[in-house]
Order: sequence, then C-alpha cells, then structure tokens
Amino acid sequence: MTEIERLQFDVVVIGAGGAGLRAAIEARLQGKKTAIISKSLFGKAHTVMAEGGAAAAMGNANPNDNWQVHFRDTMRGGKFLNNWRMAELHAKEAPDRVWELEAWGALFDRTKEGKISQRNFGGHEYPRLAHVGDRTGLELIRTCQQKIVSLQQDDHKELGDYDAKIQVFAETTITRLLKDDEGKICGAFGYIRETGKFVVFEAPAVVLATGGIGKSFKVTSNSWEYTGDGHALALLAGASLINMEFVQFHPTGMVWPPSVKGILVTESVRGDGGVLRNSEGKRFMFEYIPDVFKAQYATTEEEGDRWYEDPENNRRPPELLPRDEVARAINSEVKAGRGSPHGGVFLDIASRLKPEQIIKRLPSMHHQFKELADVDITAEPMEVGPTCHYVMGGVEVDPDTGAALVPGLFAAGEVSGGMHGSNRLGGNSLSDLLVFGRRAGLGAAEYASEVTVTVPESEVEAAMAEALAPYEREGGENPYAVHQELQQTMNDLVGIIRREGELEQAIEALGKLRERVGSVSVEGGRGYHPGWHLALDLRNMVLVSECVARAALERQESRGGHTRDDYPQMSAEWRKLNLVCRSSDGTVELKRQDMEPMREDLIGLFDRDELKKYLTEDELPAEEN
Ligand code: FAD
Repeated sequence: MTEIERLQFDVVVIGAGGAGLRAAIEARLQGKKTAIISKSLFGKAHTVMAEGGAAAAMGNANPNDNWQVHFRDTMRGGKFLNNWRMAELHAKEAPDRVWELEAWGALFDRTKEGKISQRNFGGHEYPRLAHVGDRTGLELIRTCQQKIVSLQQDDHKELGDYDAKIQVFAETTITRLLKDDEGKICGAFGYIRETGKFVVFEAPAVVLATGGIGKSFKVTSNSWEYTGDGHALALLAGASLINMEFVQFHPTGMVWPPSVKGILVTESVRGDGGVLRNSEGKRFMFEYIPDVFKAQYATTEEEGDRWYEDPENNRRPPELLPRDEVARAINSEVKAGRGSPHGGVFLDIASRLKPEQIIKRLPSMHHQFKELADVDITAEPMEVGPTCHYVMGGVEVDPDTGAALVPGLFAAGEVSGGMHGSNRLGGNSLSDLLVFGRRAGLGAAEYASEVTVTVPESEVEAAMAEALAPYEREGGENPYAVHQELQQTMNDLVGIIRREGELEQAIEALGKLRERVGSVSVEGGRGYHPGWHLALDLRNMVLVSECVARAALERQESRGGHTRDDYPQMSAEWRKLNLVCRSSDGTVELKRQDMEPMREDLIGLFDRDELKKYLTEDELPAEEN
C-alpha cells in the first residue's frame, strides 16, 4: 500500500512566484491557515528572472502619469481584447502594491529626489517601471519571502509554531485538483520531488499561481517549471481557459550560442537607449510603425533620439513599440536576408551609452553576454531574435476575486487570462502578480470562511493511479523524445507566424502526441526522477498546446500575440469575441464567447477616432455635435 501524507488547510496556494506569494500573504493576513506549494526550490520561481521592473502609474518620473494613462496604454497594448475590468483594477491598484512592497522592505532604485525611480518600457507612454537595476523580480520575491518569514515569526510568538498559519512546501508538484461529490474543489494531490512520496492537501479553496507554458516551445525564455501545469489542472477540474491563441514572442532573446538560444535580453536595453539594426546597419524599426501607433512614435532617428532627453516635445522611438510589433519586424528582417550571422538582428547599446553607464544600469545583461556568449556589450552589439516568453491566455477568472468557474478554485498571475488581452506590455506582469495575487488571496480566504469540504477517497485513488501509470507500462515511449517532438511541432507550426494548413497539421500531430503520452513509461525509484516528472508534465503541455493550436486556427485575424499569414488584418468583429477552451475528458472543446462591452466611463477615456481602429460601428460612442 503506497503511503500518502494528508494535511489540512483553509487555503492552498499552488506556486511560489510573485502571484502565489502575494496570494498566500493575503490569505494569512485574513487569518486563514495557508499552504504555499512550489515545484522548484522556494525562492526560485520564474518571477526571479523578471528584469525590467513593475509598471505602476506613480508619476515619479513624469507627473502627468496616472491610472487612466496606464489603463489606456494597457488596452492599446492588448489591442482592446483585454478584460477591461482587470485592466482598470490593475492600473488603479498597482501603485499601492508597489508602495506596500517598499514598506515591506523592497529596495527600489531612487530618483534624485529620493522617490522610487521609474524607467521607460515598450508601449508605456511615460517612464513607469519601478525597478531594482535589472533584478526587479528577485527583489519582489525576496521581499515577499521576508514578509512571510515575519508573519511566521508572529505566529511563533503567539502560537509557538512557525508553521501554525503559513507553511511552505518546496519541491512539491501538484498533479491533480481534487473535487468533492458536489463538484466543489476540496484539495490537491501531488508528490514530493525528493522522495516521490504522495501528499494530499485538503482545503476548500485552492489558488493557482503556476505561471506559464513556454516549455511547450523549442525556443523560449522560460525555465523548466513552465509546463502549463496550472492551465491543465484548471481544465481537468472543469474550469475554462480563455484566449490561449495569444502567446507572446519577446523580440529579443539570445540567438547564439545554441545552448543558450532563447534566453531573454531585457527590454530595458531598448528602454535605456539601445537600438535595433539589420546587417546593413539600418535602424529598421522606422519602417514597421503600424497605422494604429503612427501618432505616438517618432518617424526620424533624430526625433527618436531627442525623446530620451525631452519626452514632452518628442515622440518615442519605434524600438519601444509593443513587443508583438517588434518581434514581427525582426522576423521580417531576418526572412528578407538582412539578419545577423546567427539568424537574429543586432541590438546596439555600446554606441549609445558609456561603458560605466551600461554596467550600472544593465549589470545582469553585461554579465549574461560575457559569461554565455563571450560578448562585451559595452563594446559590441548583441545578436537577438524572438523567443517564446509569455502566455496571455489563461484561466477565466472573475476580475475582482480571481474566482474561476469551479467553486473553490482561484487563479492569479500568468496562469490567469484576460488582463493582458492579445499582448502584454512589459512590466505589466509584475504589477499584475501583486494586484491580482492579493485579490485572489482575499477571494480564496473569504470563500474558505463559508465552506467546508471532505475529500472522497475515490479522487485520491484516481490521482495516485494516474501518477503511478508511467511505472506500470513496460517498454513504452521515452518522455524526452515526446517532449522534443512537441517543442518542435509548436515552434514550427504554431509559432510567431501562423497559417491554416500548418495549424491543422499541428492539431493532428498533437492528437498523436496525446496518444503517445498515454504510453510513456519510466523505470527506477521515485526519488528525484526527472524522467517520471517529465512523463507527468507531458499531459499538461500537450493539453495546453492543443488549446493554443485550436484557438489559433479558429481566430481568423491577426492581433497582438497571434499573427495569421492568411488573415493579416485585425478585425473589429473578432475583437468582440473571446475563445474559450474546456476539457472534460482530456480532449479540447472550443467555443466563442461574447466579450462584455466596456463601461461607458472607460470608453470615454479614448478619442473616438482612436476607438474606430478597434471597435465596430455599433460599439462606438455617439458622435458629439
Ligand atoms: P512564477 O513566478 O513562474 O511562479 C510559478 C510557481 O508555480 C513556481 O513556484 C513553480 O514552481 C510553481 N509551480 C508550477 N507548476 C507547479 C505544480 N504543478 N505544482 C507546484 N508548483 C508548481 N514581467 C514583468 O512585469 N517585468 C519584467 O521585467 C519581466 N521580465 C521577465 C524576464 C524573463 C526572463 C521572463 C522569463 C519573464 C519576465 N517577465 C517580466 C514576466 C514575469 O516574470 C512572469 O510573467 C511572472 O513572474 C509570472 O509570475 P507567476 O507568479 O505567475 O509565476
């Protein structure tokens, strides 16, 4: 009989990145007994890698900034497909969340006047990213962990036990959400990576904060953790995912050497003055300013350069267009034969800033290129190209509480959908984690106050049988081979530019991969067995990839992180629709769902002429006489 540990909590948070930590802090502050679970080491979540900063309209660098401007930028970046209520809450609450972080001990870079410094980033009208050099995510995580330790010290003082109210389970992977006979969430099932021992967390409320899906793609800035677990756990529990077709390809990943292909080159390089050039030395981004952004971007190099010193009287350079635009432009230059020797383009900061400025502002980038590519970015340009970076699609949630469609399930951070529409602006993720992590923690705590649950034995047995299945099969598929094929399929057929025929091929290939996942086998003990871990992760990656491919085939337009070669235009009719995926039996069902029309006062924040670029005639506000 396999041993299973059983633990009881009010709120279980799966994921210890920014969203998970902030949710857990909030649930504990509401007095709930809270568990935080992460499959990596505690402190090694993806959030640690965030370099540029957290976007919040504090107005420190430019007093004209406010939540309305941030809201407008976010909606424009997402091409108006954002859940506008989420974008509103985010823009309004981000400054408070950043100040709160400072009060908990975060050491942000300062302006000359001693305020939190804010830097420029693509798509943001004003300098808006609160930052700590290029290591902002690390500071966010450090601060939240410090807050958790201080809460545990309070609990020890009061209750004699550090873990009395908030307990951390590192290197523990959840493989199933558990539901009771009424269809409510009643806990989560997982294994401890070190021993392979199973554990059941019984709780009425579960918050998913598991991050993204990048490991389904071959070239990605994402780390090993990003296997779409939370997306798949939600689907398998009966929740829905929205707009999975929108995958962000960051324009600047390393392209060389092959071993580090995809690793991110932060947008701060461009925010601090770096420019993109092709093999002819031309600053090509001026050729790629789309009509919807023409009014806000400089049309000459001189004006673009003046903007860094005098943003009031000049328009920003097109290197700072939203990520989807820059990624597509780089893709086109490379395809046209004007790429760099290793298939990217050149990103030049060396000729723009003094070496000591580069080392001060971009220490991690300087180190990264020196160590990994033997390139000194203070003296020569970097070679960069698009890399799969972020998924805009995710669990469909209530904007105010983070509640998913299944009672007791909540989601926040990259695993949730809606906030960023079809394309996320840089810096808007870290602030999203704080705003919606807090809200989901609060929502889960309130829900847990009213509900009690019992875990049916049949649920635990089914979860355990599923986790052990790869051991039961003999001579089956190698999980690494299946993973490699999946990554190649997604890269080649569901990548940055998509076509009907290729998407159909991808869906067929994914169907076959799904079957092969069912016959993957492993041998050996269960302690630290990466092959077994991957065998279990594959179910999630293939399921989520099917959602991406099916939604990408369905949406016949190009918008943000979804570019269709065969439907190159953005369509106002398609903007009214979300694509929703559900899965009852491991296969994906897709349906169209109407977007809720934007509230009138929020519509009023835009010029009618601008709205015409995004909305249908019947959605436009009446013309003033
Ligand atoms: P994460 O921080 O990834 O945390 C996910 C957690 O879930 C981890 O603890 C993981 O172990 C756990 N987990 C996953 N699956 C399971 C499971 N099955 N069981 C248990 N635990 C599980 N955004 C910005 O706003 N500004 C930036 O400057 C910026 N820079 C970035 C730089 C890089 C290189 C990258 C890759 C991203 C960057 N982003 C940035 C995006 C941002 O970092 C992420 O979107 C964000 O950190 C996601 O946070 P999260 O809390 O949702 O998830």
